[in-house]
Amino acid sequence: MIHTVNRRLEAKLEERTGQKVRHCYQCKKCSAGCPVAFAMDPLPHEVMKLVQYGAEERLLKCSTIWLCASCETCSTRCPNDIDIAGVMDGLRRMSLESGLASEREIALFHKAFLNGIKLAGKTNESVLIGQYKALSGRLFDDLGLGAVMFLKGKVKMLPRVAKDRGAVRRIFKETEKGS
Ligand code: SF4
Ligand code: SF4
Repeated sequence: MIHTVNRRLEAKLEERTGQKVRHCYQCKKCSAGCPVAFAMDPLPHEVMKLVQYGAEERLLKCSTIWLCASCETCSTRCPNDIDIAGVMDGLRRMSLESGLASEREIALFHKAFLNGIKLAGKTNESVLIGQYKALSGRLFDDLGLGAVMFLKGKVKMLPRVAKDRGAVRRIFKETEKGS
């Protein structure tokens, strides 16, 4: 019996990220330079192989995509110019949409971080904390620590906002259109 490889995931990722994962020839330079590789399963080069195999569910459920710190070391090392960090980001978005995300807390933090930037146009501790609390439902965790940080001026009550928040929102809109 002839088995055909499911190319749907590879095509979907290429459409979203512009990356041609099929060009990966498994040299492993990405995994060799990744500072988080010690905690990852699968490793970055294995993620590329799984994309080529069309192992969508395995990838959308794996913790690697949430452990990736987006440092882009892998992307700069790849001899085939594959932006592996961009592929990881594409997989994270697909994982959130599918509801299969395994690392719930990291996934929520990721969502809160992006929501905060969308709202304020820049990163902002108070908006980030508010978003994370609202999404996680853990409203009263770390209350004591939050109060100390506030009293020491580490967290501002009024969020700082970017001058042109509209431009940032337009970037989000364009990106979401391409999803
Ligand atoms: S971007 Fe992610 S996968 Fe690539 S080297 Fe950094 S942590 Fe590792
Ligand atoms: S560095 Fe590039 S070609 Fe090498 S294994 Fe990683 S993704 Fe594939």
